[in-house]
Amino acid sequence: MSLERIAVSIVIPTYNEKESLQALHSALTDVLIKTDSTYEIIFVDDGSNDDSVVVLEELSRMDAHLRVISLRRNFGKSAALAAGFDTARGEIIVTMDSDLQDDPREIPDMIKMLENYDLVSGWKQKRRDPISKVWPSRLYNSVTSIVTGIKIHDFNCGFKAYRREVVEQLELHGELHRFIPVLAARQGFSIGEKAVIHHRRRFGTSKFGAERFLNGFLDLLTVMFMSSHQRSPLHVFGRMGVAFLGIGVLINIYMACIWIIEHSLRVRPLLLFGVVLIILGIQFVTMGLLGEMIAGLQRERPYRVRKRIPPEDVKDN
Ligand code: UDP
Ligand code: MG
Repeated sequence: MSLERIAVSIVIPTYNEKESLQALHSALTDVLIKTDSTYEIIFVDDGSNDDSVVVLEELSRMDAHLRVISLRRNFGKSAALAAGFDTARGEIIVTMDSDLQDDPREIPDMIKMLENYDLVSGWKQKRRDPISKVWPSRLYNSVTSIVTGIKIHDFNCGFKAYRREVVEQLELHGELHRFIPVLAARQGFSIGEKAVIHHRRRFGTSKFGAERFLNGFLDLLTVMFMSSHQRSPLHVFGRMGVAFLGIGVLINIYMACIWIIEHSLRVRPLLLFGVVLIILGIQFVTMGLLGEMIAGLQRERPYRVRKRIPPEDVKDN
């Protein structure tokens, strides 16, 4: 692969979207040609079992801007994005879905906003999806925003524009694509948001079914942990542990007083509660210590450098 840099890479994860690809390619091309910049369009076929790859191969024969990465099986959207990021040559990288729900005409404005931000995230302000998807997602977005302190409305929008440094430092795996703004903000990148047009899905079906509710909830726990975890595992678990322990000890001191004064003590629910809290508290503190030991073994650099003057030969990514 040539290392020559170009201006813009469009990265498009694709899983069974054969009906949409041709229309997406031509709509994108119309927009990109007008921007007068060098560009490439990278389709990452995430193990499709319809004819998506056949369509993409045909398109790539006609258009030298097109690159196709075909994954061996369905690895999931995060992995597909990571594969695209790893081969993208653009100084700017734009990601979008392949189902024609994102509108390529938004791209020039998103790229323009990158003058002021490191990452510009789309906001599906009028979301054209079933209500069963819109409401849980609204709840999810507001909780994520409160928990992480990042003031955007739509964390999991597939339509985003990045400066190159951001994608170079993102470690995407599992289902982490839902939290790209959180991951980027943790590294010190600035996040902007642009309201984007959202279209109804015209062909095929959504690839995220009912399990997204459970996954979304678990992911939310991950975010909560990730954002507090910045301090340290011991601080997260230790705080809870010390609180439990403290309350448990207070309850049992009270019980001990009763025992001393009345010379007898029945097993009361409160006594059991106090004992449970003490045990839990000790467990939590120990868990925090273990977490601290594991984190210590694999701790990455705790900072990110924007630039060095004079430029030094240190790998900062
Ligand atoms: N996608 C993918 N791998 C997967 C699931 C989805 O590459 O395992 C792609 C899919 O083809 C689409 C994008 O991710 O381009 C968003 O998926 P979808 O439209 O089903 O999600 P929704 O818009 O319903 O949230
Ligand atoms: Mg979609």
